[in-house]
Amino acid sequence: MVAYVLVGMLCAHLLCFAVMFLLISKRLHGKKMGMDFFALGNLLLGLAYVLQLVEGGPAWSVMSVLNHTLTLASPIAYGLGVMRFFGYPAPLLRPLIAFAIAYATLQVLVQWSLGPVARYALLSGMSALLFLVMALTALYGVRTFAKHLHWEMAFFAFLIGGICVLNAIKCVKVLEGGLDALQMDSHFQMVFYIYMSSLATVVPPSIVWLVLRRLTDDLSHMAARDPMTQLLNRRGLSEALDRYFNLRQATPAFLMLLDVDHFKRINDTHGHQIGDAVLCRVAEVLRGTVRRGDLTGRIGGEEFIAICTGSDGAGVLQLAERVRKAVENQTIEISGSDQPLRCTVTIGVSGDFSSLPELEGAMRSADAALYRGKAAGRNRVESAGTSAPFLTPGASPFTAGQMEAAKAAE
Ligand code: GH3
Ligand code: MG
Ligand code: MG
Repeated sequence: MVAYVLVGMLCAHLLCFAVMFLLISKRLHGKKMGMDFFALGNLLLGLAYVLQLVEGGPAWSVMSVLNHTLTLASPIAYGLGVMRFFGYPAPLLRPLIAFAIAYATLQVLVQWSLGPVARYALLSGMSALLFLVMALTALYGVRTFAKHLHWEMAFFAFLIGGICVLNAIKCVKVLEGGLDALQMDSHFQMVFYIYMSSLATVVPPSIVWLVLRRLTDDLSHMAARDPMTQLLNRRGLSEALDRYFNLRQATPAFLMLLDVDHFKRINDTHGHQIGDAVLCRVAEVLRGTVRRGDLTGRIGGEEFIAICTGSDGAGVLQLAERVRKAVENQTIEISGSDQPLRCTVTIGVSGDFSSLPELEGAMRSADAALYRGKAAGRNRVESAGTSAPFLTPGASPFTAGQMEAAKAAE
């Protein structure tokens, strides 16, 4: 009797969460994160347990063949759902239908050639194998594709490992003791149902937590980034800088302001779309040239920023010069024209600053340097500390001392 109540509750949990997953997947529109697959997995397993309740005990019937097929199809649906969650475009119906036909046929063959015990042992053995693969994949994910979710993955691996062990024990028990081992009220079956019921209570909310985490992470990412170049926006920059200055080992930072030269002309000559492509290319070059740990952002139409940490003034000027040259050397192919497009940037570099409230002051000084660079002919680096006379474009605007320090740093 207790076993029937347990299995009944298990069905109720699985089916209720199937509906919940389905509702969540409907709200997620284009990016369902595998929730529709999880809904199907729950539905299949829930139906399998309903069939088990109707059947009562081991039997040879169409219902039993269907029950075994649904039982194994559900972890496959979960597995495909996990692939979807991590962004792999896994198909759903075809693999499931192919599996269902293959496994139903296999059951008939095993029943006829080896008997009912072998068919039930096959179910437990296959379940153990499938859950072993899932547990190992979750463990692999801890170090690879799901590093950011390592606690969650380890937790899932532990829970799934439990199902694997229980199914392996069940397989051995069936092979040793025959179908009597599968009586619903047997001690082992009770342990099995209690474990499965506990999982049906714990796992679905954990999946909902993963989706919530992914959604809130996506929201903060969107709020912190410029949608066109994916560089940080002002808000993202101040948040990242605040985090940086709160580190114990934080050293002073320097700020570079970049402004694309004569960008209006590029827009007017080639159109806004090409203008946007130029901005994306400049963003790419900036991101690819600064060092790991430096922050890069877009703070206006054709204005970019880099915040450099762990360096001194000479190193930052050297880096700014590298960025300037890298942009100058970029060519952007334009369809319908055999002349690739080139652009340049003028860069203003601030003095060092050591806290978030000092950011505005650093921006102002870098902006003043940038303005001087523009007035001096563009395509150049100008430091806030530089009071050297303006030089011709292409020539180094650094003071002799700064150049020496920059060379020494090289
Ligand atoms: P300077 O060398 O002095 O910086 O001249 P400039 O032409 O680059 O500067 P100006 O400020 O006159 O022009 C900036 C132009 O950038 C004007 C604006 O239409 C364009 N712009 C701003 N945001 C975007 C954008 O997102 N995409 C494109 N394509 N153009 C933009
Ligand atoms: Mg500008
Ligand atoms: Mg400009």
